Amino acid sequence: MTAHKTNRVAVVGGGIIGTMTAWQLASRGLDVTVFEQWNTPNDRGASAGESRIFRTIYKEGPEYVPLLKKSRDKWDELQACQHMDVLDMCGGVTIGPPSEPDVAAVIDCAKAADLDHRVINAKEMAEEYPQFALDEDEVGVYDPGAGIFRPELAVLAARNESIRHGAEYRSYARVLNIRSVASCVMIDTADGPIGFDSVVIATGPWASELSGLDQAMVAAKRLVAMWFPAMNVSLHQPRSMPISIRRNDVGGFSCFPVVDGAGVKILPHHLPWQDLGDVNDLPRFIEPETVRATEQTVQRLMPGLDPTAVRVSTWTEGFTTDGAPVVGPSPLDDRIMLAVGMSGQGFKFSPMIGSIISDFVENGSSRDSLRIMDPDRYIKEPVR
Ligand SMILES: Cc1cc2nc3c(=O)[nH]c(=O)nc-3n(C[C@H](O)[C@H](O)[C@H](O)COP(=O)(O)OP(=O)(O)OC[C@H]3O[C@@H](n4cnc5c(N)ncnc54)[C@H](O)[C@@H]3O)c2cc1C
Repeated sequence: MTAHKTNRVAVVGGGIIGTMTAWQLASRGLDVTVFEQWNTPNDRGASAGESRIFRTIYKEGPEYVPLLKKSRDKWDELQACQHMDVLDMCGGVTIGPPSEPDVAAVIDCAKAADLDHRVINAKEMAEEYPQFALDEDEVGVYDPGAGIFRPELAVLAARNESIRHGAEYRSYARVLNIRSVASCVMIDTADGPIGFDSVVIATGPWASELSGLDQAMVAAKRLVAMWFPAMNVSLHQPRSMPISIRRNDVGGFSCFPVVDGAGVKILPHHLPWQDLGDVNDLPRFIEPETVRATEQTVQRLMPGLDPTAVRVSTWTEGFTTDGAPVVGPSPLDDRIMLAVGMSGQGFKFSPMIGSIISDFVENGSSRDSLRIMDPDRYIKEPVR
């Protein structure tokens, strides 16, 4: 990558990736402006919806573990600086038969990265965590380095910390176009063009609009979340119940303890996540068969919940074809940084995505970047 003198940086998108990147850039003394088409935080993108999971034992691969450990440190730093609690380290458990691929991958990762963990059999799980009904052949793999985020508060904390370091936010400022010219990178908004030394694209599910990636590479998908009432609320709060990921023949889901009111949030994984043709047109409607299938799964696997989905909602996220994010300079113009395609993973390691992007902006390289995230697997260099 060519070394450029960078002073002024635009960040397009004020979700968790954009705000964390703004924090990391501004804390290094760069002049940062964040453009957000709505407000920061908002509930239109991927960074909202009451809760998110942090995990250290990573079924996606041990190569992510160093990034997760460093992210954890940055989350702690953010909470201390902002005097806000946004991550509760309540622990986490992956439940299923040991031979199930995701359960096996969690055990393999814990061993490969030498991480604290416990494999708990079905009988012990019933005593320790009666919130979960296990079949005889199932185990729980406990990760003490897991927890639950409050996503809206987390975005707020990152926004406020970036502002404390001098970042400026332009709300309701949609970026219409990004253009490379010799002296700078131009951003077009309804208020006219503005030139920057570098531009970071952190547009989440809108990634295919400005980044040079198309929908075949990074697709906006619809995810659904449902809340089920806990009969004994205190047994289902983070102090008594870890976050969990479930893999069973009847269904798979992420499960989040009660943080607001009386509902345990269930995010089904075993039902297809539909491609959204138009990311601006996220339907609220959820097919009754999707709700019913989730209710049946909850009835069988979560004995402390009433199996009635009392609240349902739809969300969107940008997914790449290989499931890894796209993070680094664009091969088309290395003054343009891509931080998109988080593929359902981005919240937990967002501070390190911001740090990696800041390394690239400042130095042209990053020791923390992962090869699997390179943009050049999707975008090729232009022929000169
Ligand atoms: C339901 C659900 C559950 C998830 N669970 C987890 C989990 O448990 N753990 C985890 O780590 N991750 C999880 N994820 C993934 C994680 O939440 C996302 O990877 C992360 O929030 C993505 O943040 P982002 O900033 O890239 O996107 P967003 O939050 O969508 O932010 C992008 C922003 O860009 C703005 N924007 C777009 N285009 C423009 C434009 N042209 N001009 C100006 N602004 C623009 C949008 O308005 C938006 O605010 C989950 C995702 C979803 C949807």
